[in-house]
Amino acid sequence: MAKSPETEHPNKVFGWAARDKSGVLSPFNFSRRDNGENDVTVKILFCGVCHTDLHTIKNDWGYSYYPVVPGHEIVGIATKVGKNVTKFKEGDRVGVGVITGSCQSCESCDQDLENYCPQMSFTYNAIGADGTKNYGGYSDNIVVDQRFVLRFPEGLPSDSGAPLLCAGITVYSPMKYYGMTEEAGKHLGVAGLGGLGHVAVKIAKAFGLKVTVISSSPKKEEEAITQLGADSFLVTTDPQKMQAAIGTMDYIIDTVSAVHALYPLLGLLKVSGKLIALGLPEKPLELPMFPLVLGRKMVGGSDIGGMKETQEMLDFCAKHNITADIELIKMDEINSAMERLAKSDVKYRFVIDVANSLSPP
Ligand code: NAP
Ligand code: ZN
Repeated sequence: MAKSPETEHPNKVFGWAARDKSGVLSPFNFSRRDNGENDVTVKILFCGVCHTDLHTIKNDWGYSYYPVVPGHEIVGIATKVGKNVTKFKEGDRVGVGVITGSCQSCESCDQDLENYCPQMSFTYNAIGADGTKNYGGYSDNIVVDQRFVLRFPEGLPSDSGAPLLCAGITVYSPMKYYGMTEEAGKHLGVAGLGGLGHVAVKIAKAFGLKVTVISSSPKKEEEAITQLGADSFLVTTDPQKMQAAIGTMDYIIDTVSAVHALYPLLGLLKVSGKLIALGLPEKPLELPMFPLVLGRKMVGGSDIGGMKETQEMLDFCAKHNITADIELIKMDEINSAMERLAKSDVKYRFVIDVANSLSPP
């Protein structure tokens, strides 16, 4: 008989899990492997709440494997390190992001692109290298191979820095890969001003881009300009402004989490412009061919980033004082936070104060 999540490993852990597609989270006792020779055990301090957590607990993508303990924006303290661990010592402040495993020998891994390794394993809702299930950061500790642990730079706050581990790298990587940072002053549209979108504005400004937020929420305009530093704001429901902005952008980063029309976004691009899709709506989007073909435009995608680039992004954010704007919540406030996230009602990332609010019953 298969062992229960609580008894299959020696290391007892407490967290919160969703049990079915209602997505309701509740206390959950489980276990993790003992710290191995290459592992770091992390006492979790803070964990960000990504929209991917919400998609997963609701089974939006059809492959949720319950119980699911979400959470992949983890900041904590290393409490144990294996004998082969050279990068970290006990007491170090560390981060864990979206992936915790890969084959470490394929072409992608050799190029520091573990995120595209065919055997990459996610921090939660996935099976780890030992064949047992991975559980995420809505819990008191996690055991991770050192390759997938990040040094958390001095000066970067643990709470508002946590969302960089997913939201930060997810927007940073395509800016570099698609050439947005090569020439200062290029015009970037950021579609969707949520967790990813608001960090995209800050990182893009630090790279010297001109940034326009493309949003469905008129009420976000003032803050986008005055607090986040966007150069302008476009409401998708204002046909006149959308019309006036046609053909003005070199790039668009699309972070919208729900099904939406690409046609108006593609129209905003200049000839040869690129739209980079980051959002993962539950159903496929329609891809209109005319604006692509007639304007030599391109649609691409991007999935988080490799470990080396994630470290580079954290160091970049520390240097430029970039953090997320967060609403700090207690663990038992997670269900109402998820309801608000579903309505895009968060400024702009919930972060769980795990160490101060997660207490076993
Ligand atoms: P989020 O905080 O909920 O932000 C998403 C934004 O999309 C909302 O704030 C809203 O912005 C807009 N939006 C939501 N519903 C909409 C609708 N029905 N129509 C138009 N706009 C809508 O989510 P997030 O954490 O930033 O994640 C965004 C998406 O990226 C999710 O699908 C997530 O799974 C995915 N993701 C991908 C990666 C990757 O590696 N590619 C990594 C992390 C997350 P406005 O109010 O401004 O319109
Ligand atoms: Zn995420």
